[in-house]
Amino acid sequence: MIQIKTDAEIALMRQAGLVVGRTLEKLRAAVAPGMTTADLDAIAEESIRGEGAIPSFQGYRGFPACICTSVNSEIVHGIPSAKAVIRSGDVISIDCGAIVEGYHGDAAVTVPVGDVQPDRLELLRVTEESLWRGIAAASLGGRLIDISRSIESYIRSQPHPRAAAGGSWGIVEEYVGHGIGTEMHQDPQVYNYVGRRMAKGPELVRGLALAVEPMVNLGSRATRVLEDGWTVVTQDGAPSAHFEHTFTLTERGPWVLTAVDGGEARLSALGALQAAG
Ligand code: MG
Ligand code: MG
Repeated sequence: MIQIKTDAEIALMRQAGLVVGRTLEKLRAAVAPGMTTADLDAIAEESIRGEGAIPSFQGYRGFPACICTSVNSEIVHGIPSAKAVIRSGDVISIDCGAIVEGYHGDAAVTVPVGDVQPDRLELLRVTEESLWRGIAAASLGGRLIDISRSIESYIRSQPHPRAAAGGSWGIVEEYVGHGIGTEMHQDPQVYNYVGRRMAKGPELVRGLALAVEPMVNLGSRATRVLEDGWTVVTQDGAPSAHFEHTFTLTERGPWVLTAVDGGEARLSALGALQAAG
């Protein structure tokens, strides 16, 4: 069932979103070679609890940490560990969720560490931009599939670093975005691609909140889950990127609840916001 929130409920989601957005900014600034992913988890817990919020991942279906940390060929759901040392050249996806008065925020970034190969940086750029293109395609009265189409068509429009050797972007299909509100994962599912017989999906209305989260691999889109039951990796070992934001819609356009600036800068640049006033 799709949950439609009141303005007061969306205001609580904005509070949760700001906790997530500020926590991810702290983590992005902190990431450095020699740290462990458990160090990042400790920073996240202090940040989230320090703002009076609850880390939503902790205990979610038994998940043992506050954030997911997915390094290089890990796509999503990696578990922070004191044994996982971050090295220069890595790309690390950090996924974070927080709850304020029962309402959720959920967002992720992939951060380059030190000296990173250009093809990996391009993977990050394309994945992050596809997230913003997806959100920018959403408007009141539009349809859910507008988001999926915009994400996929942007990724497909971007030359792959190894196109000459037959390389192409692997858009992950097994894991998708979602509605969000009083639960982290709600209907509807937000696909990062358009399937052959995919319905256009529900109308985008006020009070709907969605977490959009493209996952793109530098190689094949094929995934598998490690023996820990959580960590999703690329089957071919190629690196992967993941970016996510939670957003809602206003008459002006999308409002990105997990972006500290509400998405103003990126969405204005894409022409997705009505002029204020
Ligand atoms: Mg997430
Ligand atoms: Mg999510």
